[in-house]
Amino acid sequence: MRLQNKVVLVTGAASGIGYSVTELFAKEGATVFASDIAAPASPYSEDVEVLKLDVTSEEDWSSAVAVIIAKHGRLDVLINNAGIIAYERLDELEMKEWMQMIAVDQTGVFLGMREAVRVMRKQGAGSIVNISSIWGSAAVAGAHAYHAVKGAVRTMSKNAALTYATEGVRVNSVHPGFIDTPLTQAQAPDLNDLVIESTPMKRAGKPIEIAYGCLYLASDESLYVTGTELVIDGGYLAQ
Ligand code: NAP
Repeated sequence: MRLQNKVVLVTGAASGIGYSVTELFAKEGATVFASDIAAPASPYSEDVEVLKLDVTSEEDWSSAVAVIIAKHGRLDVLINNAGIIAYERLDELEMKEWMQMIAVDQTGVFLGMREAVRVMRKQGAGSIVNISSIWGSAAVAGAHAYHAVKGAVRTMSKNAALTYATEGVRVNSVHPGFIDTPLTQAQAPDLNDLVIESTPMKRAGKPIEIAYGCLYLASDESLYVTGTELVIDGGYLAQ
């Protein structure tokens, strides 16, 4: 029960890493609000409250947080996990795709942090975990827009961590390597094989292996941790 009495909001919770975080956090005693634009692929096994939240929408953010505050009077943890990926290289990238990536993966994180920080400052406590990527620190060829947003999430997290460090609000980023989720299952198999082959552990990570890192950062075990990057990548970035 590492999250007993914590009220948590998870975005992109219907699938992959967000689904796993939701299940683990509920098992660890949290009251979890699982939000997404889609319904979960399978029902949550634990007692979880489901919310519709498109992370690109200011209105959705303020009504989701208002629902949580009306019910529980607080928000202890935000897991900014919702995300999309695209593979176009710079010279092939259309404005529409660029703007869509920025809207979901970067503006979504900005709106979520802003809404949560407003509540958490009043509480004098809170933990925000932003899901970036190994591609927020290192590059591969192609996927130009994804690199842009995941790099932004990394430095936005550090900025917010410093800004609110004396107010009890902690902000950290998590940097998964290649994780087996619907997002990567939709990618070309030869691309996936290449990334796995380049990973020192020579295997894909599991969503639960990211969820355990989020659990540490969400819990009071990490009270002295802010502005850090938790890399969970089978050794990829050590190369
Ligand atoms: P996933 O299985 O596709 O789950 C992401 C969820 O976010 C999906 O349910 C998706 O819905 C939802 N979503 C998309 N746009 C949204 C929006 N505007 N508002 C709210 N929810 C939205 O992906 P995942 O692999 O678990 O990825 C989760 C996070 O980890 C992402 O930020 C991703 O960039 C990051 N990450 C993943 C990996 C990896 O290897 N899997 C590695 C590094 C970082 P739809 O299915 O309807 O789009």
